Amino acid sequence: MIESMDVRHVPGADAFSEPNTAPARRARCAHCHGPFGMIRRRRSGRQFCSVACMDGYDDALRETVRAKARWYDLIDRLRARNT
Ligand SMILES: [Zn+2]
Repeated sequence: MIESMDVRHVPGADAFSEPNTAPARRARCAHCHGPFGMIRRRRSGRQFCSVACMDGYDDALRETVRAKARWYDLIDRLRARNT
């Protein structure tokens, strides 16, 4: 008979579940990855800490799209040259 005060380890059984000791994943700014202050701004499913971060994220996104367009243009020109 197992008494309720028996604290011996039972093989194969988990110990009492400990509280989650991993640090909680807090939401961070999508651009600077910093913590939020009192105000957070949202645009297109992302959260930003400031208007400057929203604009910076847009600029970085625009530059990424431009870089992809340059690569696709280059590939198209090379294909056109080889045909
Ligand atoms: Zn930010």
